[in-house]
Amino acid sequence: MSDEFIALSVPNLKGNELKYVTDAVETEWVSTAGPYVSDFEKKIAEYVKAPGAVSTQNGTSALHISLLLSGVTREDAVIVPTLTFIAAVNPTKYIGAEPVFMDCDDSLCMDPMKLQKFCETECDFTDGKLIDKQTGRHIKAMVVVHVFGNMADMEAIMPIAEKYNIKVVEDATEALGTYYTEGKYAGKFAGTIGDLGCYSFNGNKIITTGGGGMIVSNDEELLAHAKHLTTQAKADQANFIHDEIGFNYRMTNLQAALGIAQLEQLEDFIKTKTTNYHLYKDAIDKMPGLHVQDFREGIRSNYWFYSVVFENDEKGRDQLIEALKEAHIQSRPIWGLISDQLPYQEARTFELEKAPWYWKRVVNVPCSTNLDEAGVRRVLDVVKTFAE
Ligand SMILES: *Cc1c(COP(=O)(O)O)cnc(C)c1O
Repeated sequence: MSDEFIALSVPNLKGNELKYVTDAVETEWVSTAGPYVSDFEKKIAEYVKAPGAVSTQNGTSALHISLLLSGVTREDAVIVPTLTFIAAVNPTKYIGAEPVFMDCDDSLCMDPMKLQKFCETECDFTDGKLIDKQTGRHIKAMVVVHVFGNMADMEAIMPIAEKYNIKVVEDATEALGTYYTEGKYAGKFAGTIGDLGCYSFNGNKIITTGGGGMIVSNDEELLAHAKHLTTQAKADQANFIHDEIGFNYRMTNLQAALGIAQLEQLEDFIKTKTTNYHLYKDAIDKMPGLHVQDFREGIRSNYWFYSVVFENDEKGRDQLIEALKEAHIQSRPIWGLISDQLPYQEARTFELEKAPWYWKRVVNVPCSTNLDEAGVRRVLDVVKTFAE
């Protein structure tokens, strides 16, 4: 048996990447001006059926700008998940606002029932403002993460957001290509349902620009404002007149050249991810005490990350990671809860139950788009020894 290293989630650059990047270098358009940037924005917008898109340096900066555009100030609070990557939460603190940590449901995404309960029992809703009774803070926005390429329960979350006048920033950094196939939002892509949506093109995401991000919205005024803020808020470019505190957050032409080549392959990547997901799922769901997390029904998922769950065993997680490592296979636990991390230990939390449960029990196994069936079988051979 081969013992070649199998990485968790690595880039796959076998399309037109070199051709387009070479073109960017040869034409000497390597920075934030250049035709690939606006072209990539246009193509992402078309792909997710949004009226426009604004590029950023990464997903984190896309989230930062989206919270600013949601009107969040240092006086306010933002509802965020605790079971997520920390970049979904840190932008709240960049602004000086405070997070309120919400639990997940069995989709690993934000639990709409607890969200509703929090708004109803912990807050006052007066003059169109949701005020946290404990802190006195105005809850202006929430960050909804579409975890691992799943779709958060937007059908349940959006009416709550509307009822309490909370802006919805979708962190779709892991879910480019995921869309509803049924129901009220049939045909709608993750990232295009709330007020603003954010994508990431980090090296481990489904398509990569090395580092990069994108903001989408159905509100063209918000998009224009996003472009303004990501490009130093120039009111009069020729005379260096600026009318706001802007940021240097725009993507470069080099990154966008990579992005266009990657986007050409996105649907093929999703096919590979789907095939490998089912190989894992069919085998692991038959093993006692283990299963692979489902994705929501009524959606087409991009199947970005696969989660093996140890149903009754808190020790299995670390043991499996160790055994895979010995077989030269990279895996990882799900994220440590953000509300447990040093900068957030004093922050407000609400009824966290499922997030700590999943935190102890989930292992993410290799899911790169260059992983073949033989590779999946090698991972499965190790997992098999763990079934009770
Ligand atoms: C990757 C990721 C981000 C941040 O994206 P970057 O491009 O790495 O800044 C934010 N939130 C989640 C859930 C992510 O997985």
